[in-house]
Amino acid sequence: MLVKKNFKKNISKKKEKKSKEILLQNPRGMRDILPEEQNYWDQIRKVLEQSYRDYGFGRMDLPILEYSDLLIRSIGEGTDIVDKEMYSFVTKGGDKLSLRPEFTAGLARAYLQHGMNVRHKPVKIFSMGAVYRYDRPQEGRYRELYQANFDIFGEQDAVMDAHIIQLASRILAALDIKKVQFQINSIGCPVCRKNYLNLLKKYFESKKNKLCQTCRKRIHTNPLRILDCKEDKCSQVAAQAPQILDHLCDDCRLHFRSLLEYLEELEIFYVINPRLVRGLSYYTKTVFEIWPIGEEGKKYSLGGGGRYDNLVELLGGEKTPAIGFALGLDRVVAEMKKIKAKAYVFPIPKVFLAQLGDLAKKKSLKLFSDLEKNGVLVAESFGRGSLKSQLRIANRLKAEITIIMGQKEALDGTVIMKNMATGTQETLVVNEKLPFIIKKALKNNGKVIKK
Ligand code: AMP
Repeated sequence: MLVKKNFKKNISKKKEKKSKEILLQNPRGMRDILPEEQNYWDQIRKVLEQSYRDYGFGRMDLPILEYSDLLIRSIGEGTDIVDKEMYSFVTKGGDKLSLRPEFTAGLARAYLQHGMNVRHKPVKIFSMGAVYRYDRPQEGRYRELYQANFDIFGEQDAVMDAHIIQLASRILAALDIKKVQFQINSIGCPVCRKNYLNLLKKYFESKKNKLCQTCRKRIHTNPLRILDCKEDKCSQVAAQAPQILDHLCDDCRLHFRSLLEYLEELEIFYVINPRLVRGLSYYTKTVFEIWPIGEEGKKYSLGGGGRYDNLVELLGGEKTPAIGFALGLDRVVAEMKKIKAKAYVFPIPKVFLAQLGDLAKKKSLKLFSDLEKNGVLVAESFGRGSLKSQLRIANRLKAEITIIMGQKEALDGTVIMKNMATGTQETLVVNEKLPFIIKKALKNNGKVIKK
């Protein structure tokens, strides 16, 4: 009996041990971006920071979580994001929250919450960060993805639509991505879209048995989405469907026409795509996507956006026309790699700081900070004790100068400056002039300029 008991105990201990094993892996569809991959990301961050300021945007950082109701109301039921892709949960306090699947809904919420409607219009806001979509991961499609988002509130003129497209084009060009086309459409306003949707429903109803299962349901929930379904059979049916551009009201038609005129003036390469509808239901009038030229078949967009003139009102604010777009940074990085675009070049330290002995180690930490504060980039290997191994590292890093502080120098308040190319050494006093002497020496092939 006792044996049996112990046996059971052992088994449950083993089980316990097994269940405590931690999976050392990031969640599916998410990934770690390692230091050596950051040069493209840094280049993007640099260009984005410059562009948002140049174009008069203010930056806003929003929480990663929003109330689920806000997202459902804004993005709309019947959309893939709301129906399938949100990471939603109830907090211990009973709040229903979701990880943001995009920025616009949260931005519209913040615009209202902070009374930004009283600001001088247009209000231009830039935001950047991760968004989350529980989609099936594949190449170029992640569950945690990064977006840069630009939104303009308070201006309905088509010139703003062109301005935002101009900005998207400018950013991509600054990242060396010049071979892109803007796929453009107008999906009208609620007035003209209502009639069009009725026509569309009738048409798809008559072709119902040629559609995929999902699109059959979409006839009633979101018939517009059938137009951009990737299934072959649905594409064939959609190709013959009535086109929204033939059913726009006068206001929407004029708006679209003047946008095209502006784009022609800007010489931006665009293609009118009457089947482009985008997945979010807050859009009105202009919608667009940015496709790399040559990848049209894949429908692999680098970014997308559109006008959403009714969203602020839908959330309880006054009528506020608005337009925005998001760049998908993961795909922009992939494109930059593909075309071998210029990456951010990290400045490489030309000075190596070596130390020998306890006192020197203490003092060299301070010296490192004095040099760095005065604009001298320094590499180090504080953890190493032997001078030989530190010099080997200095050589590997191709340092032009190595500053050596040994026991004697630490007591004297001096350092040895070694020219790594010639091997010559000089003793220098550690004082406020030292960083400037080193800077001059760097400009002079590692030789100290004697005054
Ligand atoms: P959207 O918010 O759907 O308009 O997407 C804007 C941009 O984000 C797209 O053009 C893509 O570049 C990017 N994007 C959207 N979904 C994903 C995803 N699951 N993985 C990677 N990038 C994405």
